[in-house]
Amino acid sequence: MAKANGLPILVVGGGIGGLAAAYALSRKGFPVRVLEQAPEFRELGAGIQLGPNIFRALDRIGLTESMLADAWRPEAQEMRDALTGELVTRIPLGDAFVARFNEPYAVTHRADIHGVFLRACQQSNLISLENNQRVDDIADDGETVTATLQSGEHAEGRALIGCDGMWSKTREKIVGDGPPRVSGHIAYRAVLRREEVPDDLWRPDVVLWAGPRTHFVHYPLRRGTLYNLVAVFHSDRYVEGWNAEADADELWAHFRGQRPEVLRLLERIETWRMWVLCDREPIKEWSKGRVTLLGDAAHPMLQYLAQGACMATEDAVWLAEKAAAQPDDLPAAFESYQLQRYLRTGQVQIMARVYGEFYHARGVAAELRKMMLGGRTPEQSYDGIAWLYDGM
Ligand SMILES: Cc1cc2nc3c(=O)[nH]c(=O)nc-3n(C[C@H](O)[C@H](O)[C@H](O)COP(=O)(O)OP(=O)(O)OC[C@H]3O[C@@H](n4cnc5c(N)ncnc54)[C@H](O)[C@@H]3O)c2cc1C
Repeated sequence: MAKANGLPILVVGGGIGGLAAAYALSRKGFPVRVLEQAPEFRELGAGIQLGPNIFRALDRIGLTESMLADAWRPEAQEMRDALTGELVTRIPLGDAFVARFNEPYAVTHRADIHGVFLRACQQSNLISLENNQRVDDIADDGETVTATLQSGEHAEGRALIGCDGMWSKTREKIVGDGPPRVSGHIAYRAVLRREEVPDDLWRPDVVLWAGPRTHFVHYPLRRGTLYNLVAVFHSDRYVEGWNAEADADELWAHFRGQRPEVLRLLERIETWRMWVLCDREPIKEWSKGRVTLLGDAAHPMLQYLAQGACMATEDAVWLAEKAAAQPDDLPAAFESYQLQRYLRTGQVQIMARVYGEFYHARGVAAELRKMMLGGRTPEQSYDGIAWLYDGM
């Protein structure tokens, strides 16, 4: 046991979850080695919404202020009917929202949230950030964990956290429940510069245009200098991995007949990137001995509640707190961490699917959506999402 305690904790993957975990663990005094397969620590461009629950987690690791520095604070979330233009619901995100949840709502660039965690990690002398380090195999001998790297190196740690995303190798090894579920929904994403957006189309809010089997979201990013666009539609096309080449004709076929505000914004985009949206059924156990999972590796979810990165950050904070409470028994700490997290993350996985159905409703279901959401006061809207935003 004494030997293991002198070793670092191995973190597989240096995305948002991996870096958040490394930083949170370092604040509790654990040395960490982050093993990232890519040649550099980098996130590709697109927006991320940050609910008040992520700020509750960030408060606990002292990063709220830096996260807000480059973020945009939208005035409201708005849902409109993509065929009629009618307002379905508008939820104010200003003072009343902050008074209700004690935390703000913000939107940020993926590179910016990742950059906040990366800089925090770089400033810690307990964290070693390593690129070109693909983990090909792991073995837990009960006292230490060994990761076999692409280079042939055998990296030894006192424990290992798989933060290796949707197609996690670590999960394959310790859960072994096959590939993720392909949802049949595809997201096209693009980021424009502010000056590329016509003034009459630019809005300070998070706007969601709900259409039949489609939706389109836009909001400003990076202190208002950028504009994020996400178009989602149902399709059976399947390409594993994020950021594949997009096919603009397929997009146009799905959005034909929608409001001019939608079509004019879609027309501004020259290059889209495409994501095939996948998730998994929630599970109760994602730890085995000295190995555990975090973020998308543990509980991949559809993006409809905009919570994957928020959940990964919550995981990171809880994992570090549980590890600090039982530093000499990390397998027990990992059990305690997953017990803390599985119902919360499972609820988000399931509810994200429900929200997707709601966004893409047609016919009577779309009328019902209008009836259910249309008459709500802001306070009723806040109460409706409190299960998510009040938690952490
Ligand atoms: C269209 C879309 C919109 C979204 N919008 C939001 C939003 O608004 N708000 C929000 O909170 N979330 C959002 N999300 C979800 C969020 O992006 C993810 O949940 C989050 O990025 C997951 O982080 P992660 O660190 O767990 O995984 P990833 O970001 O996938 O990182 C995994 C890392 O592990 C590395 N890796 C993989 N395998 C290995 C290996 N064998 N060895 C070494 N390294 C490895 C990868 O290179 C990568 O760097 C969205 C997702 C999508 C697809």
